[in-house]
Amino acid sequence: VPERAFLAELAWLGEDDGVARDVLVRTVDGVITEVRPGVARAPAGTKRLAGVTIPGLVNAHSHAFHRALRGRSEMRGGDFWTWRELMYEMAQRLDPDSYLELATAVYAEMALAGYTAVGEFHYLHHGDHGRPYDDPNEMGLALVEAAQRAGIRITLIDTCFLQGGLGGEPLLGTQLRFGDGNGERWSWRVDKLLATLAALPAGGHARPGVAIHSVRAVAPAAMKTVATYAARHEIPLHVHLSEQRKENADCLAEEGVSPTVLLDRSGALTSHTTAVHATHLLPQDMTILGLAGVNVCACPTTERDLADGVGPFADLVDAGTALSLGSDSHAVIDPFEEMRAVEMNERLVTNRRGIHQATTLLTAATAGGAAALGWAGAGVIRVGALADMTTVTLDSPRLAAALATLPDVSDAQAAVASPGSLEAALVFAAGAADVRHVVVGGRSVVEDGRHVTVRDVPGALREAVGHVLSDR
Ligand SMILES: [Zn+2]
Repeated sequence: VPERAFLAELAWLGEDDGVARDVLVRTVDGVITEVRPGVARAPAGTKRLAGVTIPGLVNAHSHAFHRALRGRSEMRGGDFWTWRELMYEMAQRLDPDSYLELATAVYAEMALAGYTAVGEFHYLHHGDHGRPYDDPNEMGLALVEAAQRAGIRITLIDTCFLQGGLGGEPLLGTQLRFGDGNGERWSWRVDKLLATLAALPAGGHARPGVAIHSVRAVAPAAMKTVATYAARHEIPLHVHLSEQRKENADCLAEEGVSPTVLLDRSGALTSHTTAVHATHLLPQDMTILGLAGVNVCACPTTERDLADGVGPFADLVDAGTALSLGSDSHAVIDPFEEMRAVEMNERLVTNRRGIHQATTLLTAATAGGAAALGWAGAGVIRVGALADMTTVTLDSPRLAAALATLPDVSDAQAAVASPGSLEAALVFAAGAADVRHVVVGGRSVVEDGRHVTVRDVPGALREAVGHVLSDR
């Protein structure tokens, strides 16, 4: 896509610049070269974007295959750990072909919901009983191919998973497919992955990251190996952190410290680290994460689905962390629901409203996620940024009248009759179904609410999930 031009009826240009009208956005080779508000007449060949255009939404934490569990696990009772048994059963059914088919459909669903990039936290590396595929990265490369087919960017976060629990418990059952034996063999495999990704066309859609699955799955020595690897290659490092109280208790019993302290001792907490969940933290954990400038990825629709708890995200941001958002288990795929859930959950816990500003949540869902995934310069509509944009219609029943203004109201009426804030309407009232256009790297991926290349996304999901369920 050499040159494109878009005229956004309204565009959100970030926390400082707010919303502008009639914004011409020109792109060359997938990068924004001009942003000009107040353009009354669109030049010939310009694509009109009716509604409000925001930077492309970033899904900073995903396990694509969990989508196959949607609607299948909700009424069984139990807790996170019983849900995990169902999730492992689903993982056991996947091979590279079925994972390519499933992930393509899931990433297409993400595109329809307004996501332009995904961080795939990938640990399902090997075949049955842990036997490597001919290319030991075949499963990960299926995810890279899936993102290409669905038209979105991917950071493939290759995850180290070496033990079944703290203290060196062995891998069991499905977990055997996750393991590489030790940190050195994990590094060897990821070296090959980096070489493959580096050979993709320049300006490609895929980048690498690495992860420590959790303090449960990686012992301190191997944590150091992964952290050092991320630093040496200057790629993002992710980790699941304190999603469950049991993880904290086990870590305290085995190592005498909290998971945050253990990770910090291993050199795993820097400004290139993203801590996913960060639900059950001590005050000193928050201080450590804030001082290190860690990015915290909240996954509130999953955290409530799995009965995890409510993370202290306001306190974390106060302590100095950045914030990003992920749909994680894909119980729902709706970036607007993620944004408002961060605020709504804290309202329930604190009995206070207005803890997170709408603009702060929009930044978390865009630039915050782009930073977490190593896409520097994405997540903003600005000259020099990657041309990723999501347009939300204002004509849906959800948003109609959210912004209406009344003329000539008295001062007393002003508070209730004042125009709604566009940012607040998006965060607190919009839904995935309101997304009309999605542009990734200057290329249209969704037009008028239809995916351009995956023509029938519900059909693709039905087929893919059906294949996974019937394969064995
Ligand atoms: Zn996760």
